[in-house]
Amino acid sequence: MTLAPHILAGALIGSQVSSSATAFALGVLGHYFLDLFPHYDYPIYYLKRVNSKFNEKFLSQMLKVFLDLAAGVVIVFWILGTPSLNSPITWAMLGSIIPDGLTFLYWRMPKQKILKVLALIHETVHLQKEKPGPNWFGLVFQTSVTIITIALLFSLN
Ligand SMILES: [Zn+2]
Repeated sequence: MTLAPHILAGALIGSQVSSSATAFALGVLGHYFLDLFPHYDYPIYYLKRVNSKFNEKFLSQMLKVFLDLAAGVVIVFWILGTPSLNSPITWAMLGSIIPDGLTFLYWRMPKQKILKVLALIHETVHLQKEKPGPNWFGLVFQTSVTIITIALLFSLN
C-alpha cells in the first residue's frame, strides 16, 4: 500500500493512545493489518534492485516515494497541527511506515539476516500477490481508507 494512507491510519491510531511506545507498536501492527487487504502500489522496481544505480529512473521512483510520504505527513499536520516529537501521534506515524522502510533497507542490503526476516514477515502479510494489470479493488480499498481516515481525523478537532 502507498505510504500516505498508512501515515493517515497511523496518526489516527496515535490520537487514540497516550503512550508513545504503545502508539509506535500499534502503528506497526496497523501497517501489517492494512497490507492484509488487496491494495494498490505504484511501480518502484528500480528501488528493489540491489545493483540499481542512482540514475534518473531510480531518483524519479525515489521522488514518488518522497511525495507519497510528504502527502501523508502534510495532510495530518494540516488537520491536527504539527504534533510534538514525543507525541503518540508522531510515534504511531513513524511505526506505520517502518515496515516499508525496513523492506527498502533489505533491498539495499539483502545480506542482512534481520532485515531479511522482517522483509519476509512484511511480504507474508500481503495475501494478494502482485499481478499485472489494473487492480481496481485495491484502488477502491485504498481510496476508501484514505477518505475514511481523513474524515475521522477531522472529527477529532
Ligand atoms: Zn507495507
